[in-house]
Amino acid sequence: MSVSENLNSVRQNIPSQVQLVAVSKFHPAQSIREAYECGQRVFGESRVQELTDKVNQLPSDIEWHFIGHLQTNKVKYIVPFVTMIHAIDSERLLQEIDKSAGKVNRTIDCLLQIHIAEEESKFGFSLDECREFMASGRWKQMPNIRLRGVMGMATFTDNEAQVRREFQHLTQFFREVKEKWFADEVSFSEISMGMSDDYRIAIEEGSTMVRIGSTIFGSRQY
Ligand SMILES: *Cc1c(COP(=O)(O)O)cnc(C)c1O
Repeated sequence: MSVSENLNSVRQNIPSQVQLVAVSKFHPAQSIREAYECGQRVFGESRVQELTDKVNQLPSDIEWHFIGHLQTNKVKYIVPFVTMIHAIDSERLLQEIDKSAGKVNRTIDCLLQIHIAEEESKFGFSLDECREFMASGRWKQMPNIRLRGVMGMATFTDNEAQVRREFQHLTQFFREVKEKWFADEVSFSEISMGMSDDYRIAIEEGSTMVRIGSTIFGSRQY
């Protein structure tokens, strides 16, 4: 199946209020162009060097989302053009984005990455770390970032009930943060959850943004 055929069949499974981030990491600019020609404008990448290489080869109306773990020393390379950063897993990272975005007069949309999986290896704030950070109020002193919601990854498992439970935790936590800190702000509205293998469950559990790679572009050659 071609990228355009894959993309169209994925689209049929996604309700119109859920945004599709086409995850193009490890795939060449040509594959991105193919999806672009089918109308896709939002793409997700997870490595800084790869992303900055691709940006120069592709149309300027693409919205680039950085979805991977981001090191603070690399923030400055993507801040001039990136639309959203999904995986904020520390205050230090958020501070660096704020500082860097200030220098180029931008405000960057950010999602708080929450550790919802039972697996040890995944990055992200624990619920309590995130609650503490919100209560500190320090995020209010960062004029060049805008918190738009939360992001999380479920455990890599065939156990559908577990995946569903983890997504439910994220949605629940989103509601808690929303009510407590962003009740009057419509812009705090995003729950980024769901990948190729679990996006249908994620949508059922309240996802507003799915990040889908291999189902659209095929398997990745690492
Ligand atoms: C690679 C990646 C995806 C996409 O994964 P697929 O299983 O290929 O859909 C989604 N989110 C993040 C954070 C990723 O790194």
